[in-house]
Amino acid sequence: MNLPTCREDALELDGLDEIAHLRDRFILPEGIIYLDGNSLGPLPAATPERLGRVISEEWGADLIRGWEGRGWMELSGRVAGAIAPLIGARPEEVAVADSTSLNLFKLLAAGLGLRPGRRVILTERESFPTDLYMAHGLAEMLGTEVSVRVVDRGELSEALTDEVAVLSLTHVDFRTGEMHDLEARTAEAHAAGAVVLWDLAHSAGAVPLALDASAVDLAVGCGYKYLNGGPGAPAFAFVASCHHSRLRSPLWGWMGHARPFDFSTAYAPAEGARRLMVGTPPILALAALECGVESLAGVSGERLRAKSVALTELFIALVERDCAECGLGLASPVQPSRRGSQVSLSHPRAAAIVAELMARGVVADHRPPDLLRFGFAPAYVRFADVWDAVAALRKVARGMRG
Ligand SMILES: *Cc1c(COP(=O)(O)O)cnc(C)c1O
Repeated sequence: MNLPTCREDALELDGLDEIAHLRDRFILPEGIIYLDGNSLGPLPAATPERLGRVISEEWGADLIRGWEGRGWMELSGRVAGAIAPLIGARPEEVAVADSTSLNLFKLLAAGLGLRPGRRVILTERESFPTDLYMAHGLAEMLGTEVSVRVVDRGELSEALTDEVAVLSLTHVDFRTGEMHDLEARTAEAHAAGAVVLWDLAHSAGAVPLALDASAVDLAVGCGYKYLNGGPGAPAFAFVASCHHSRLRSPLWGWMGHARPFDFSTAYAPAEGARRLMVGTPPILALAALECGVESLAGVSGERLRAKSVALTELFIALVERDCAECGLGLASPVQPSRRGSQVSLSHPRAAAIVAELMARGVVADHRPPDLLRFGFAPAYVRFADVWDAVAALRKVARGMRG
């Protein structure tokens, strides 16, 4: 790539971008450069009208009849079916329910059940905090039998002993954007006789995934980041079909029952991933999530990924060229294949820089102690946004030295 020397060069890159039109599927406020879609995706253009209709025409007019007449009962399955191709799964392998944290709990417990006799959950220190908390909480509940082994990334292979039932990892590190080799780690876990549980919160919708082809056992992911489902959107859970006959959820909710409306006193799990559902599905939130997932429809994961890599490469190159004396360090891997869709920079005054960028309309994140985190959602971030963000960063960081 020839590095742009002026804003017009960046605009030219946008002119050549074959998926530039996707931006029209979102409502983005004027004057804002939004580099935080990895924390909360923006509002899809279709969502306000859809929610308005669900509220007035469906809930308001149809009341209880909506469950059948408006297909509310099928909605979560339909959204699961729309998420499936984004992660390389079959529809019956995906359930949309609850939060990522809760789905982690369910699948950690279910994963232990898939490897009876093995009592260790292996994970790494850099995992997202909720992943660690959920594992420790589950182990405490199960008593002395189960333990959580937390190691540094470099020690994972060695720690993968024959006591490990579940290897639980976050695919893309929320701090640095570093991405695991999902296929290799999965194969390593299998060679050691363990099942693998991937947290895809920072990958689904931005990084192409082939869970079936990669022989992944279990996975969870987030609805409100790159899937644009809105604040607190339902999350998803994936269970490979080879585990469907044996997988047990620790939470026997009636919505995970094979026939909830028989109101039977005896529990019988539903087919496939659907057994991971617990309570009544949140219809308003699911309608918003469906719009979010549809905002990525019709574009291949490879296209999205190619643009995401181009955006992050441009950002890194411009920061290196234009912010050389600002005291910023690159905290993400240099090699694009080892990065998710974000770039993190380090600076001792990261929090102040992020606040000052925000005041200038550039929305990024601060992650303690010293990281500035920039997310590049390929569906709506433009090359010109990258240019403008680096120009703002240069002005702000120059004033923050020392
Ligand atoms: C955002 C995120 C979560 C969020 O979990 P919630 O239960 O939705 O709050 C979990 N794991 C990772 C890696 C995340 O980035």
